Amino acid sequence: MTRAAIALGSNLGDRLGHLEAANEALESVGRVVATSPIYETAPIGGPEQGSYLNAVTVIDTELAPRALLDGLLDIERSRDRERTEQWAPRTLDLDLLLYGQETVDEPGLTVPHPRMVERRFVLDPLLDVWPDAALPDGTALQGFREGVADQTVERFIDESGFKPWTALAVFLIFNIAAVIIWRIILLF
Ligand code: ADP
Ligand code: MG
Repeated sequence: MTRAAIALGSNLGDRLGHLEAANEALESVGRVVATSPIYETAPIGGPEQGSYLNAVTVIDTELAPRALLDGLLDIERSRDRERTEQWAPRTLDLDLLLYGQETVDEPGLTVPHPRMVERRFVLDPLLDVWPDAALPDGTALQGFREGVADQTVERFIDESGFKPWTALAVFLIFNIAAVIIWRIILLF
C-alpha cells in the first residue's frame, strides 16, 4: 500500500462537477484518505483561458505508478478531456504529484511531478491535507512555500447550494418572529 497525492484541475465547463466526479472516480484506483479545499487560481502558461479550480486528493493505493497514471488518464477521458496544445483549457487534469517516497523517470511519467514545487495552486492544497509531505530525498515541501508566495490563489466558495438554505432560514426566522409578536399582542 502506497500513499499518493493527486492534483486535480479544471477550467472548462462545469468545473466543480468535474472535480467532484474525479474524487468519486478516484475510489476506483485507491482509497481516498483526504480531499483538500478547492482553490480558484489564475492560469499559468498556455493560451488566454478562464480561471481554474484546483484541489489535491490523497489516496492509499495498491496500484504501481504506471497503472495509477493510466487510471488517472481514464478518469480524465471519462470527463471528455481533449488533448490539444500543452496547457490548453481542460475539463479535467489529474497529475500524479507524489507516490510514496519513490522516484519515477520514464517516458510519459515523471514522479514527483516536476513542476509541483513551482506552483502554489498545487502546494497550498497539498499541504492543507498532507502538511509533512516530502520529496523522495526527504526535503519537506513546506520549504517551497516561500518561493511561490507571490502567486495568488483564493479559496473557492461554492454558492450554488447556499441560496435555498438562506431563503429557508429567513423564512423560518420571519415566521417565528411573527408568532412571538402575535403572542405578545394577545397578552394585551
Ligand atoms: P500538464 O498536466 O502538464 O498540463 P497533460 O495533462 O496534457 O499536461 O499531460 C501530458 C502528459 O504528461 C500525460 O500524457 C502523461 O503521460 C505525462 N506525465 C508525466 N508525468 C506525469 C505525472 N506525474 N502526472 C501526470 N501526467 C504525467
Ligand atoms: Mg496533466
